[in-house]
Formats: sequence, C-alpha cells, structure tokens
Amino acid sequence: MIEILNPTLLTRAKDSGALVAEILQSLKGRAAAGTNLLDIDRWAKDMIVEAGAESCYVNYAPSFGRGPFGHYICTAVNDAVLHGLPHDYALADGDLLTLDLAVSLKGVAADSAISFIVGDTQPPESVALIRTTEIALAAGIAAAGPGARIGDISHAIGTVLSKAGYPINTEFGGHGIGTTMHQDPHVANTGRPGRGYKLRPGLLLALEPWVMADTAELVTDADGWTLRSATGCRTAHSEHTIAITDDGAEILTLTK
Ligand code: MG
Ligand code: MG
Repeated sequence: MIEILNPTLLTRAKDSGALVAEILQSLKGRAAAGTNLLDIDRWAKDMIVEAGAESCYVNYAPSFGRGPFGHYICTAVNDAVLHGLPHDYALADGDLLTLDLAVSLKGVAADSAISFIVGDTQPPESVALIRTTEIALAAGIAAAGPGARIGDISHAIGTVLSKAGYPINTEFGGHGIGTTMHQDPHVANTGRPGRGYKLRPGLLLALEPWVMADTAELVTDADGWTLRSATGCRTAHSEHTIAITDDGAEILTLTK
C-alpha cells in the first residue's frame, strides 16, 4: 500500500518526526563510555511514554526477525548495523554506535537513525563510514520531490556509496511510512534514475543509506534480530523521514 497523507495527518507526522529527533539527540548526548545498551533502551522507553507516543518496535514481529522485538530502540555497535537488539553491553570509547528509532504519535509514525562514535577516540575509518551515509542521505533527499521517481533517490544514494568505495546491500533499504512504520514503496540504496513510483505531495518516505566497509553480506546474531557484517568490519547507517511537498521534500526528523 502506498499512502498519501492528508494535511491533518501530515501535521501529526511533523510532531512525530520532531519527537524521534529529540529522543535520538538526547540519547546521543547521554551515550558515553560505560553506558549500557539496556540503559539507552530504558531511557528511550521513558521519553516515548512521557510524550504519550507509542513504540513501533516493542510488538513488532516481521517475517525477518524473531519477534516480537521487545525493546524500544535498535542499538547496533561496530560491525552490527541493522535491527540491533539492545543487550547487556557497556559501550567503550571509540565504539561506533547506531541508534534507530521509530515511534507513532497520534497514529502517525516517523523513523530515523543516527550513527556516531562514543567518547573521544575518533577512528578515521568509522568517521568516513558515518560521513558517507550522511552525504548519501542528503543526496537522496535532494533527489526527492514531486514528479521525481523512487529510482532517482536510489540512484543518488547509490552513487555516493559507490564512489566512496563501499559495497551496497540491496536486501534492506528505505520505505514508505505513514499510519504504519513500513509501507511501499521500497527505496533501494542503489538503482536506476527515472524508474519506479512517481512521487506525489503527501507521500512520506524513510530514506536510510547504510554501509559496511568491505562487504555486502550480512549475518544474523543468535538473538534472531541483530544483523552484522559478515567480515566483522565497521558499519554505519543514517535515516530521515521526509515528506514530499509541492516543491521538494521536507525533513521531518529534525529537532524543532
Ligand atoms: Mg529506522
Ligand atoms: Mg526505516
């Protein structure tokens, strides 16, 4: 299903997006060497509940996971990249942490992910990975607007990732979002321009370039959820929810 949001739902999407951004930035500020991933999950829960929002994750049980997820945020460290299940692990200085959060406020969902390095050590390879996903995300957003096609976004993202020398996995990518977290259309992180669904005002998309330094192959942890690089290399992931407007695209998952 592809959903086009009416103005009332769009307003709610903006509130939902701002909340996701606020929570992610708060958690980024609190995540330090020694912080346990389970603390981050608990803090996320507290902020979601405080805001009167609903977690999109706790009861989420898709075909690709061993559901329900049972936690409020995805925490992926170093070689873990997607669907990181929070567990008893204390962050170390120099860890590359990805937080991925989706919540629903008044029935409309927003979804965003950030990667950053914990503490003072800034490993150059990790910095480059994170920066590349951020640039790819910006390129994807710049390619989005009324009349553009999904393939234009995919091509813009994939061009940045490829030029940086990273292999691209096409199993998981961006997606439509609205009254539910995951909707059509799928937005692959590489593709051909001019192909696919034509974007219309009121469409919400979650764009999410993610990369692994030297492989496109994922392996799944024994927890049934956490996906990590098959080679153990570092990974990064950046995601925003955007709304297609009359003249471009608006990022919803920014702090107000
Ligand atoms: Mg996400
Ligand atoms: Mg997403």
